[in-house]
Amino acid sequence: MPDVFEKLAKIFKDFPGIGPRQARRFVYHLLGRSESQLKEFSDLVGELKKLVKTCSLCCRFHSSGAAVCAICRDKGRDRSTLLVISKDSDLSAIEQSGVYKGLYFVLGGTVPILEKEPERKIRIRELLAQILERVKKDKLREIIISMNVNPEGENTASYLRSRLEKLVKEHSLKLAAPGRGLSTGLELEYSDPETIKNALERRSGV
Ligand SMILES: [Zn+2]
Repeated sequence: MPDVFEKLAKIFKDFPGIGPRQARRFVYHLLGRSESQLKEFSDLVGELKKLVKTCSLCCRFHSSGAAVCAICRDKGRDRSTLLVISKDSDLSAIEQSGVYKGLYFVLGGTVPILEKEPERKIRIRELLAQILERVKKDKLREIIISMNVNPEGENTASYLRSRLEKLVKEHSLKLAAPGRGLSTGLELEYSDPETIKNALERRSGV
């Protein structure tokens, strides 16, 4: 049986952005916790998949216990705008900037360049259905596509534009992209609130 220490360190090393040294520090950190703190930690990890679900509207992860998340339920949000992002951490970064008050849709991935089956990489069918429903129910007016500024992000945005073209025309929707405040190669989730705020405020039609 592999050493418990090494086994845990290997699990942490697989986390995004974590190297072997950091992974070992995490294990030392856990060794310094009390039994009850470790129990709470392992219980939460054990229940994670059961308690956290994807919202039936925006597809983001949430643990409110309801089918629809708190943002989608919030009556104070501007229902005429839908911001499309690739992953949950992008949504958190934008929420923290405090500038955006509309609704979201989480694609759950990106489309790699030369991908033969983009439908399998992102929730495109769900997005199209969601837009149609929001047009009818919420008088949706504008869709903002906010992808990372890198080749895969650009590829995803252009795929989205082509798939949305028909719907956008049919319902006279506005299709927009954030302004170039976000510099090349920078990931949305690591951008500071001020940068996100400027980019969203200076968005333009595409
Ligand atoms: Zn939601």
